Amino acid sequence: MQAMRMVFLGPPGVGKGTYAKAVSREFGVPHISTGDIFREEIARGSELGRRVKEYVEKGLLVPDEVVIEVVKRRLAQPDCAKGFILDGFPRTLSQAEALDTFAPPNLALSFIAPDEVIIERISGRRICAWCGAIYHVKYMPPKYPGICDKCGGPLIQRRDDRPEVVKKRLEVYRERFTPILGYYRDKGILREVDASEQAPIVIPRVLKVIREYYGIE
Ligand SMILES: [Zn+2]
Repeated sequence: MQAMRMVFLGPPGVGKGTYAKAVSREFGVPHISTGDIFREEIARGSELGRRVKEYVEKGLLVPDEVVIEVVKRRLAQPDCAKGFILDGFPRTLSQAEALDTFAPPNLALSFIAPDEVIIERISGRRICAWCGAIYHVKYMPPKYPGICDKCGGPLIQRRDDRPEVVKKRLEVYRERFTPILGYYRDKGILREVDASEQAPIVIPRVLKVIREYYGIE
């Protein structure tokens, strides 16, 4: 069977990370999130890690050539021989082109949900100010509104989760990712997955698309 070299694309709040974890468990290929590998490089104290840290600490976007180097190094690890799931990379067309030079993906999955669904999903999130537990006013409500089940702490909404901020993030996503989606569409490796329902419904759908795509029984 060919290596499953997958790229997961989708707007914030579409559930990419959740699907990636499920796919990783099902097919035994590593889930590689750029956020995680940045943290690993920083923890290892490598030269690259130090460079990443400088940007992250200043709240700056890590430049393309640094991100590409980090991803390239991670994908060269032996656990990626059977394939990988990239989550959070590529974020630019030049990253997508660079990826093709060292580990060309053979499937790009684009997760799709209407803006209203994503806005409802994200803006309903509440986080405990004391212990960090996550709730959702509709899908995972606490026993008593506004109070954490685990520690009794107050539940708050993160600034990034406010509807107007989410709307802006969705616009940014669309602008930034349209060329990347087009790039993979032109290569004939783009597949879309409807992610407008909750994870227990979407996950089997994702697994089915992947099985059919790679011809796995
Ligand atoms: Zn709590």
